Amino acid sequence: MDKMHAMQIDAPGEPLRLVERETPVPGRGELLIVVAACGVCRTDLHIVDGEIPAHYPIVPGHEIVGRVAAIGEGVTGFTIGDRVGVPWLGHSCGACPFCLSGRENLCDAPVFTGCTRDGGYATHAIADAHFCFAIPDRYSDVEAAPLLCAGLIGWRALRMAGEGRRIGLYGFGAAAHILAQIAVWQSREVFAFSRPGDIAAQEFARSLGCIWAGGSDETGPSDLDAALIFAPVGALVPIALKAVRKGGRVVCAGIHMSDIPSFPYVDLWGERTILSVANLTREDGTSFFEIAEQAGLRTVTQSFPLSDANEALAALRSGRLSGAAVIVP
Ligand SMILES: [Zn+2]
Ligand SMILES: [Zn+2]
Repeated sequence: MDKMHAMQIDAPGEPLRLVERETPVPGRGELLIVVAACGVCRTDLHIVDGEIPAHYPIVPGHEIVGRVAAIGEGVTGFTIGDRVGVPWLGHSCGACPFCLSGRENLCDAPVFTGCTRDGGYATHAIADAHFCFAIPDRYSDVEAAPLLCAGLIGWRALRMAGEGRRIGLYGFGAAAHILAQIAVWQSREVFAFSRPGDIAAQEFARSLGCIWAGGSDETGPSDLDAALIFAPVGALVPIALKAVRKGGRVVCAGIHMSDIPSFPYVDLWGERTILSVANLTREDGTSFFEIAEQAGLRTVTQSFPLSDANEALAALRSGRLSGAAVIVP
């Protein structure tokens, strides 16, 4: 069969390098996908930096949009050429206590796309057919890519934040730009906290309907119903905790964060809660794509060719992006 190309990371701290391989053949229950677009997520930076356990060498990328090119044994419901999306949760065991109680996001034996199985910084990828999503027609391949993690796990985080009306978003990148639109569509008041001095991000937030935007060092509202933290900065946790009212929630939506500084108990007192969001369930995906259509959600993207994956990651790291970076093989 033909050769495929991928951007692979051999070990933590090393840049990605372009490799050529035999195109894999899908096994039982699997699909071979020709990648059309793959979003760049902050988790990819954590994998490059060795901050989360990945299986090196690994091809990152867990926001894959592509078309089915070959179908493994036992797969039903897919036809060659179908457009599919592949998210971070690539497989769950179906047998552990978490899987059996509707919490496959916490599975004891999961496979994570672009982390423990090769992902979408590539011309081709293998995926478990049961963990692929159909994608609404309204989105182009590039527009759809950021929905698969920034959108989908962001949606899970927003649901865990509860029904409160006043929502703060800390870190205004790929996830927040999607979540802000949904929360505004739900008639909530959205407050955006960017890196201090990032005027472009603040203007971007206002353009999406946020009623207030400022730096995370600025004194914003003190009566938020919930705060969602997307930046990997532990120091934001006590700051966000001070910004929520009694009974309010602080939801940490990233997979990795710097250490959280200590803070006085009085800031937690009043039944405030701090929680983390881990991974996704397939139900999160189904309900998210429904809400994306209803809300008329759009994504702002910046495309990079596959060979420029290192530049895409550098742009994300430096905060130079408005919206989401997407790799187009
Ligand atoms: Zn499981
Ligand atoms: Zn992600």
